[in-house]
Amino acid sequence: MTEPRPFKTEVQKLLDLVIHSLYSNKEIFLRELISNASDAIDRARFASLTGQDGIEKDTEWKIKLIPDKDAGTLTIRDNGIGMSEKELEENIGTIASSGTKRFMEQLQQNKDALSPELIGQFGVGFYSAFMVASEVTIITQKQGGKAFRWNSKGDGFFSIEPAERDGRGTDVILKLTDENKEFLDEWKIRKTVERFSNYVEHPICMDIRREERKYDDDGKPVEGAEPTVTIKEETLNSMKAIWQKAKSEVKEEEYNEFYRHISHDFMNPLETIHWNVEGQTEFRALIFIPEKPAFDMFMPDLKDKGVQLYVRRVFITDKCEELVPSYMRFLRGVVDSSDLPLNVSREILQENRTVRLIQKNLVSKVLATLADMKEKNFDKYLKFWDAFGPVLKEGLHTDFANRERLSDLLLFSSSTTESGKKTTLADYVSRMPDTQKEIYYLFADNEQAAASSPQLEAFKAKGYEVLFCTDPVDEWIMVDLPDYKEKKFRMIGNGDVDLDTEDEKKAKEEQRKADAEENKDLLTAIKERLGDKVKEVRLSNRLTESACCLVGDEGAYGVQMERMMKSINPDLPPSKRILEINATHPLIVSMRKLVAKDAKNAKLDEYASMLYGEALLTAQLPLEDPLAFAKAVSALLVKDSEAEVEKL
Ligand code: ADP
Repeated sequence: MTEPRPFKTEVQKLLDLVIHSLYSNKEIFLRELISNASDAIDRARFASLTGQDGIEKDTEWKIKLIPDKDAGTLTIRDNGIGMSEKELEENIGTIASSGTKRFMEQLQQNKDALSPELIGQFGVGFYSAFMVASEVTIITQKQGGKAFRWNSKGDGFFSIEPAERDGRGTDVILKLTDENKEFLDEWKIRKTVERFSNYVEHPICMDIRREERKYDDDGKPVEGAEPTVTIKEETLNSMKAIWQKAKSEVKEEEYNEFYRHISHDFMNPLETIHWNVEGQTEFRALIFIPEKPAFDMFMPDLKDKGVQLYVRRVFITDKCEELVPSYMRFLRGVVDSSDLPLNVSREILQENRTVRLIQKNLVSKVLATLADMKEKNFDKYLKFWDAFGPVLKEGLHTDFANRERLSDLLLFSSSTTESGKKTTLADYVSRMPDTQKEIYYLFADNEQAAASSPQLEAFKAKGYEVLFCTDPVDEWIMVDLPDYKEKKFRMIGNGDVDLDTEDEKKAKEEQRKADAEENKDLLTAIKERLGDKVKEVRLSNRLTESACCLVGDEGAYGVQMERMMKSINPDLPPSKRILEINATHPLIVSMRKLVAKDAKNAKLDEYASMLYGEALLTAQLPLEDPLAFAKAVSALLVKDSEAEVEKL
């Protein structure tokens, strides 16, 4: 036996940290060792193809996991390239990988600043074996070379000595610590392989032991008979990394099956996007748009699990927020990068240029696919929109660079679309009459409420279409949309409306003055009675049929936004709205007469309060005193029905 040799100091530091179980998810040791084995096989396969080293071309490449419960060891065996004595010393005694180097740099800079979680995010390659093992042995041999045994207890020293091995390849033998004996269980190994190494190109095999009881002809177990023991080698990983294949080689059913597997959806995807990118960065992506939202779409904790990041077929994470922007969190699938290091940390992902390039390309590809779907298969796009429109819209708020492309993808119901149908902004603009200068929209809880809003009346009368914004998110995003095709957006529920042309205004000027004069006392009478409930009572330019409506001040919040803010802060005082009345409505006309005759009449209290109630209801705002309102309505109905009886 050769003298034990010390590790390089930085390796020892690293080992200390690892051994003191700073890892948050230690099962990744298996991912790291399998990945090393797979790399070693790749290199051997390459050598065999180029006729080097005398390695046979038709070798059955394989990674084998051998749990030994009696010895308490787990062996990871490969028939890859193997290591010479020199390579063992150089590769395993030093810090080779870039991820590990970066880790060491951070460590040296500021040890205290590294929290366990942070350290847990670093892959540290081979050394992660010491998270679960008290002793690690490597027995390795190159084609036609001698075998060597490397051994260390993670105590700062390692030894290398000649050994026996049955041909080329490497065994990494882990003597598991007591608390990590679970990695000897078939179930635990299976789960870990499936999670992290499912798509590794080479088969990851294990001998599976099954005991079967003996049964008699009647199907009853035979008492006292020894069970039959069978041992069968099974492949634990699916190996089918279909994103690595050419599009033409994958059948639709294979895509669907893969989608159902990774999304846990039982339906097929609405759209499959499979592409690869070469150039600045190299990656392959297989992305699915589901047909329906998953239940967790709006739960922040779960929303970022959609697209998994792989590096050369090895699973890295399903929590890479930088890969897909939040407004595309409905996407499912896989991105497999050839450029990222396997030992990539959370921190590296956050600021990584490659990841940013991937995101940019992915977003662009998805937007292009959606635009294409909208053009060529509008019904399908409608399905998409109904499921994910409210999520995609968030992009207007967060992805400034793509605002135009996103605007083109928006769909709205409107005052002229049939119920259930939707329009694009481009179509809306193409329908705008010449006199219409702005794009009008209205916030409401739903399409029906919007369609029956009194605020629409003047626009309808003018032949101007109004878009309905009925998603809660609309109030956030519409403010981020100043214009479309140089037409400004304008919310019709706030401020004054002024749809008349200069000529029309002039023509109406006299009438306006007369109306103002005629209704002055009525407006004062109503305002006096409503007091602080409203900011102002004024004549309306927007009503043609209804008696009254509530509008916000110029620049005020919409109704939905106010409700949302109130749910966050219940003490928020309600914003005061303006009550607009329609001077030509019969109710207003008769109230005006009453005021002229008797401005102190007690009935006016009741009428003003009911008018206000009606305005609240049509704005879908809660009544302040529903019972009083109901009583007042009943009282009126009593009178009306008595009058009806009188007539008979
Ligand atoms: P990384 O794999 O990131 O380079 P590791 O610490 O995991 O870092 O491994 C260091 C080196 O040891 C590898 O680059 C490789 O050369 C060698 N090595 C590790 N495992 C094997 C193996 N099973 N067969 C052959 N070489 C290996």
